[in-house]
Amino acid sequence: MTTQPTTALGSAGGSAAELDAADPLAAFTTRFEAAPGVLAYFDGNSLGRPVAGLAQRMEGFVRQDWGTRLIRGWDEGWMSLPERLGDRIGEVALGAAPGQVVVADSTTVLLYKLLRALADAQRAADPRRSEIVVDTDNFPTDRYLAEGIAAERSMRLRWVQADPDTGVHPEQVAEVVGERTAVVLLSHVAYRSGWVADGAAITALAHKAGALVLWDLSHSAGSVPVQLDEWHADAAAGCCYKYLCGGPGAPAFGYLASRHHGWARQPVQGWMGRRDPFEMGPGYEPAPGIRGLISGTPPVVAMVPVQAGIELLAEAGIGAVRAKSLALTDFAWATVESWPRELGVRIASPREHRHRGGHLTLRHDSFQDVLARLWADGVVPDFRHPDALRIGLSPLSTTFTEVQQGLERVRSALEEAEASDG
Ligand SMILES: *Cc1c(COP(=O)(O)O)cnc(C)c1O
Repeated sequence: MTTQPTTALGSAGGSAAELDAADPLAAFTTRFEAAPGVLAYFDGNSLGRPVAGLAQRMEGFVRQDWGTRLIRGWDEGWMSLPERLGDRIGEVALGAAPGQVVVADSTTVLLYKLLRALADAQRAADPRRSEIVVDTDNFPTDRYLAEGIAAERSMRLRWVQADPDTGVHPEQVAEVVGERTAVVLLSHVAYRSGWVADGAAITALAHKAGALVLWDLSHSAGSVPVQLDEWHADAAAGCCYKYLCGGPGAPAFGYLASRHHGWARQPVQGWMGRRDPFEMGPGYEPAPGIRGLISGTPPVVAMVPVQAGIELLAEAGIGAVRAKSLALTDFAWATVESWPRELGVRIASPREHRHRGGHLTLRHDSFQDVLARLWADGVVPDFRHPDALRIGLSPLSTTFTEVQQGLERVRSALEEAEASDG
């Protein structure tokens, strides 16, 4: 092994080719649709790639399931698909026992329904609990939802000031939760820095203050292991189109712990979440169990790609996925660290493994200017205002060679921008 740092060296001490050769998940990188012209896909944390064979699976659904079973399909399985697929996601990615997860709506809508359900239940039990805790660097939709619910329910927001380069620490939550807190709404993995919050510790300290916790798992599911039942989490929701590869606009998953069923009622009282919907009777009565989280007709077609994504993840195992995720980000980290200091690229993500999610954020004033050039060259990260390039490394679909080549292009694009400036 050489001690000379080069761009090809990861902290694990191997070249990209060596790391690929030793990667136990290497075979999974061929289990996705090919993307001609893409040299490095760095955005699987935002939109996962389609699983190979998905087109045939979709065609089978259209021709057989939908095409020949027609409306009988509802009785033959579609009706219970939100719960069945939810149980599978719970088992494979969330550490949730059956009967607590459904697939429905979008992440935004499920977060709204769950936040309202928990906030209203807390308030009804103790009218003093009129505050929602949320952090300043949470994903915009989470912040906006919390603002909206606070306005419509005459509640107050308590903001945790989160550092955008790291994330929310348990002590910060401990400082703001108390007898007025109804619900704490946090992301488990921060969308900007990739910071992994301490789910167990934060849930425990919120509970100690009598508060409930709603976790946004959009950047965790399929990347960072989550143990909702072990944490005694109250509720959670997240995207199926990121690491779960469910496709653009895929429905979301929502988790509500069994102990809250019946007590915490969501506000969108649709017929599909009613006890015996086909009775079509007067008055809304929630269906028992997690079914009550559903409002309207389940998005069956859109669940087909999610099924393909979760089965691929099940085959690999979330433990192996996490191990590769850390190896990929270690490799990217070492590569960027080996760049000349004058280039001025800063890593704005946590170094410690236990706080590092599936992506690294790099900061540089010129990233906005070079983004279009990178995309045109088939190197596809995403940009977050004002100066952040997110390098998302989806473990099942990403090779170390791809990381090396993509980052090399990022570096040369910056150098070219610099040269044309000077
Ligand atoms: C991607 C993401 C969302 C997206 O919500 P949609 O309703 O699917 O648009 C929500 N929260 C977080 C933390 C995200 O990263």
